[in-house]
Amino acid sequence: MSVTSAQKTIYIPYMADHCYILAAAIAANGQPAEVLPLPNEETLAIGLSFCRGRECSPCLSVSGDVVHLTRRPGFDPEEAVIFLPTTTGSCRFGQYTVLMRQILDQMGLQQTKIIGPSANNSYQDLGDDPVRMRRLLWEGMVAVDVLQKLLHRYRPYEQRAGETDQIYKANLERVVAATRAGGGKELVRAMRVVATQFADLPNGQGQRRPQIGVVGEIYLRHNTVSNLNIIRRIEALGGEADLATMMEWIYYTNWDHASNTWVLGQPVEWLKTVVTDRYQRILERRLVGPVAHLLDHPYETPVSRLMSHVSPYFSPVLANECLLSMGKMVETSRLGVCGVINVMPFSCMPGIITAGMAPRLRADLGNLPWLDIAFDAQGGTNITTRLEAFLHQASEFQRRGAVAATS
Ligand code: SF4
Repeated sequence: MSVTSAQKTIYIPYMADHCYILAAAIAANGQPAEVLPLPNEETLAIGLSFCRGRECSPCLSVSGDVVHLTRRPGFDPEEAVIFLPTTTGSCRFGQYTVLMRQILDQMGLQQTKIIGPSANNSYQDLGDDPVRMRRLLWEGMVAVDVLQKLLHRYRPYEQRAGETDQIYKANLERVVAATRAGGGKELVRAMRVVATQFADLPNGQGQRRPQIGVVGEIYLRHNTVSNLNIIRRIEALGGEADLATMMEWIYYTNWDHASNTWVLGQPVEWLKTVVTDRYQRILERRLVGPVAHLLDHPYETPVSRLMSHVSPYFSPVLANECLLSMGKMVETSRLGVCGVINVMPFSCMPGIITAGMAPRLRADLGNLPWLDIAFDAQGGTNITTRLEAFLHQASEFQRRGAVAATS
């Protein structure tokens, strides 16, 4: 039995385009859902006015988005449900829902519920069929990750400005519609269409730009408003971005849960997690297959490999997001990236750890160019000059690599 009545609308603060998949999957399970607009100056100002300055910038953005929603004409607090995931992890993310609850209560909106996925409720708040919900979410998330890989792979080489964005947008709508229609074969069919549409675009073969890995905090690296459009800036300065995916995080949580249950002697739970992970891998291969020939590295790197990259520097037992950033740094440098950018919200603990470990990692990776960029929610961090210098270093790194390969 669903906790949320079917009349209520679930509002999802925009984090990334993957949120449209979430709304579609919720709708496919019979519940109305709406993704809130991207943050803007007004919503960020609202968020700041409700926070004290010690919160991380994603928290400010999300708070602003939600409060802005409540000020909409006709907003009905009884019929609105806010979607906000939570965690029991090692950073402040677990406190977002606590703060949001306080803010809504302060505003006299005690009736407005907050829900979110957690290991404890198995998505039960989102409909009566959590297994189907998880499959829809996973498939759609993979599809959007792959669409974004294609966008970033092809857009730097487009000959008609805006063409790749148009194709991306049309196909985002396609995969969202396929998710709403139940995913599975619909989504595989959609990915075949995606393949035909990207296949005709120029891809810079023979004149590849330096590839720049973009790692770091998951909200910030995907939210184009909060990260001041970092990917477009990289492209404008002559680079090609390789953005860490959303599915990476899900595979990581599987790995983390499997490791913990193994240590705690819970074989049934461990087995369930391992089987789920394998099943997700199969679904990933099914969906990525149609476009695999268009990408250099189409499939997600196993988390166990990322963790083996990290182990000489930092114990994976100290679980948090910095493990993925460091593991990806090593992995992508072996796959040919010429520089890595670590995006982090101002005062983000995992981001600071990654920045602190970077010199040791870089030293072992041929002094791979590396740039940490801390974003607060106040816009202009004056990153242009630093990015220009960084892209110059990355180009030099690429040139030196090409010379070494031919000598
Ligand atoms: S990862 Fe960083 S930005 Fe995100 S909640 Fe944790 S401390 Fe805040």
